[in-house]
Amino acid sequence: MRAMALTQFGLGHLDEVEMDTPSPGPRQVVVRVLACGVCRTDLHLIDGELPDPVIPIVPGHEIIGRVEAVGRDVTSCAPGDRVGIPWLGWSCGACAFCLAERENLCPQARYTGYQINGGYAEYAVADAAFCFPIPAAYDDEHAAPLLCAGLIGYRAYRMAGPGRRMGIYGFGAAAHLITQAAAHQGREVYAFVTPGDQRALEFSREVGAAWAGWSNSPPPAPLDSAIIFAPVGPLVPEALSRTLPGGVVVCAGIHMSDIPSFPYRLLWEERAVRSVANLTRADAREFLALAADVHLRAHVRVYPLAEANRALDDLRAGRLSGAAVLVP
Ligand SMILES: [Zn+2]
Ligand SMILES: [Zn+2]
Repeated sequence: MRAMALTQFGLGHLDEVEMDTPSPGPRQVVVRVLACGVCRTDLHLIDGELPDPVIPIVPGHEIIGRVEAVGRDVTSCAPGDRVGIPWLGWSCGACAFCLAERENLCPQARYTGYQINGGYAEYAVADAAFCFPIPAAYDDEHAAPLLCAGLIGYRAYRMAGPGRRMGIYGFGAAAHLITQAAAHQGREVYAFVTPGDQRALEFSREVGAAWAGWSNSPPPAPLDSAIIFAPVGPLVPEALSRTLPGGVVVCAGIHMSDIPSFPYRLLWEERAVRSVANLTRADAREFLALAADVHLRAHVRVYPLAEANRALDDLRAGRLSGAAVLVP
């Protein structure tokens, strides 16, 4: 099969390679990849910002696939089913984190497109217990971004608490889906974009932000919470300075530049800063049920698989509104 793979740590781009088409282990499925979303985490991986990837590795953890073959112990899906394969590819099921429904923190967990070959390929193999049915209302291209931008974005959204005024820093694939979910639930989203990025400003309003402005400017009212999707450490004190007492600032990315020191008064009055890591299968079930209920309109730009590097460059350069999706 054809795949786009990272062949050397930190190489900065992918190479087109020929690989053996995988066959399933007893608890695994093999899918024909129908679409695979491009996530900022893939960029961090390719640019050498994530530790200890398996090399060579096929990135891609927003996979929509058609099941082609199943292992002998698989009962949860069958050939012909359409499934989604997210970032969490396997967890041990036996450690203190797994037993406390926090499998997202399992120290032995393995991640799709990082330790397990992902969806930048014609076929992918996955553990059946970590695959999910996809709401029928979504076609393959529009369903793909639900699997990380939507799903981990939604975990960050839940961690931000129940406050009505929510700031979002960095308006990419996750933000545009979460803004729609938040607006549906009666929240006001305040979108903060890179100063001067007029297109991101307009895009955020188009998908339902109540207000949009530059990331260094004050919102019209103080925030109850903020989610930072941009991998930019200085946004942490910036967001804290816009947040009410008791508010939460959630860092939602796997990688962020260093956070500069800041005066304690920004944190004082029970403000909290926290990160969100990975996902649990319960998150996936909850978010996909919501996505079946509220039709989230993913804005996608589709690229052929062979043009994965162009999609990654467009994401790196901020040329996308919404999500890039690869189709083999
Ligand atoms: Zn575990
Ligand atoms: Zn992701």
